[in-house]
Amino acid sequence: ARSQPAIPAVLGAELTVPLVTGERVPYANFDHAASTPCLAQVRDGIDELLPWYASVHRGAGFGSQVTTKVYERARRIVGEFVGARRGDDVIFTRNTTDSFNLLARALPKHTAVVQFDTEHHAALLPWRGPYVSRLATPESVADALSAVDSALASSPVGPRLLVLSAASNVTGELWPIRELSAVARKHGARVALDAAQLVAHRPVDMTEFDVDYLVFSGHKLYAPFGAGALIGRADWLRAAPPYLAGGGASKQVRAEAGTLHVSWQDGAQRHEAGSPNVVGVHAIAIACATLSRHWTAIERHERELTHRLRAGLDTVPGLRRLALFTPERAGLGVISCGIAGTDPGLLACALSAEHGIGVRVGAFCAHLATRRLLDDQTEGRAALRVSIGLGTTEEQVDRLVAGLRGLVRNGPRWSYEVLDGDWAP
Ligand code: PMP
Repeated sequence: ARSQPAIPAVLGAELTVPLVTGERVPYANFDHAASTPCLAQVRDGIDELLPWYASVHRGAGFGSQVTTKVYERARRIVGEFVGARRGDDVIFTRNTTDSFNLLARALPKHTAVVQFDTEHHAALLPWRGPYVSRLATPESVADALSAVDSALASSPVGPRLLVLSAASNVTGELWPIRELSAVARKHGARVALDAAQLVAHRPVDMTEFDVDYLVFSGHKLYAPFGAGALIGRADWLRAAPPYLAGGGASKQVRAEAGTLHVSWQDGAQRHEAGSPNVVGVHAIAIACATLSRHWTAIERHERELTHRLRAGLDTVPGLRRLALFTPERAGLGVISCGIAGTDPGLLACALSAEHGIGVRVGAFCAHLATRRLLDDQTEGRAALRVSIGLGTTEEQVDRLVAGLRGLVRNGPRWSYEVLDGDWAP
């Protein structure tokens, strides 16, 4: 056997799930592009913190001191993990969606926002109004660059922001971040990067990418749900009204003749009113520190499995891998497929019930991108997505490919009640 460099262990490797026959088999999770399982180190780190946690930033007791230290250390670790510049704020949020909504509220008035309509809804929907330009899905990288160039050239004078994905959660393709940020710079625009799909799979570096803001979610970074981050230039963020009004965001509150006078915090805490998710933030910091020590092994693991998965899926009759640009740009182990003449919802049910395999069907909160890529006539309105991660094994890939081939050829062995209609979520 070849010796492989170690990759960090995730929870759930020993789970078994029931099949329609009543037999139990090891669970094969192919839905890492939705959420990733928890790292063993993250679980251990949470266990260590739980007995200690107490009021953050406020209490004088030892538990509060520990909690505050853990919380503020997490800011440093996350900042380093994403290559933040000196002076950038690291603001903890609930998730990527929350981070983008916060940023949208912090933009100076009349900021022109430019983006592609292929974005995940978390990145697509928070910007509203006449200053938003949504560009049609580009056919090629060259198209993408020239579309951004002309949109920014014709945008009104004033602040400008290009909102961009680092990697697609539909196709696994890597966007040409540096090339696009260079175009943005030419027009004096800032760049906000949706790194939700990239952070767990490749190192990110805001300085090297030359982007001003970066957002991600803990639950896609091998940490639990409920915490995410927005990292970026402090000036707009500190000039904006607090995202939430409340304790923690306020420095001082006075009442004069029945009127409240509030001064708000200047730093990241300005946008973190209320007791924060210290456990979630600690989990993110441990995940960042752990992944940083294993990039070479992680990339190798994912590259080998992705190669095996692509080759296997290409043997499934009628299956087409979806790509915005070209399948060759698909750097990550996320593959969405159209399968001619079959119902992907039925395939997904049967993969789970007959093979113990979890995949996802739908439009993946990127309706415009997914729908554009599917051939509605033969492939329908929903795609089938498989995505790998640290817990994925060769055996699971082979089981998925064999299961899918059998189902496409012979149909399911049992009948299932598949959710009707639009598998859009
Ligand atoms: N952007 C991308 C590229 C994503 O993959 C996701 C999660 N699927 C999001 C944004 C939204 O993340 P969340 O639901 O955690 O806010």
